Amino acid sequence: MDDTLRELYQEVILDHSKHPRHFGKLDDATNTAQGHNPLCGDRVTMYLKVDADDRIQDIAFEGKGCAISQASASLMTDMIVGRTVAEAEKLMGGFLHLVKGEDASGLDPDDRERLDVMAGVSAFPMRVKCATLAWHTMKSALEGGAAAEAV
Ligand code: ZN
Repeated sequence: MDDTLRELYQEVILDHSKHPRHFGKLDDATNTAQGHNPLCGDRVTMYLKVDADDRIQDIAFEGKGCAISQASASLMTDMIVGRTVAEAEKLMGGFLHLVKGEDASGLDPDDRERLDVMAGVSAFPMRVKCATLAWHTMKSALEGGAAAEAV
């Protein structure tokens, strides 16, 4: 990756962490879960409103932690709102491959482009858990809301 692109990606991450999308609480959430990444101290609480057709109507998160964890939560909420649960889980699968430096060709090209800002964390195994925390917490909320730990 050239330096200009790297800088751009850093800007995107900083922007998301400073001005997180969907930050807050949903009073009418159908699914919630809390996640914790003990290695870094990141915490996130995810609120989802899933309708009868399994579509994620609304989503919000609260949390604090490093810029990567907050930016990833912001980016994720922005990307999965309006999708079905199955689509969100498929996106999560592709994202996990991407940040672990594995084959992420299953991702839709547009999704891949948006998630690419996070691909750089694959070089830093400790930070992968920061990037995946929000996603694991989202999945845990969909599965019934047990506490999630980043894996
Ligand atoms: Zn972190």
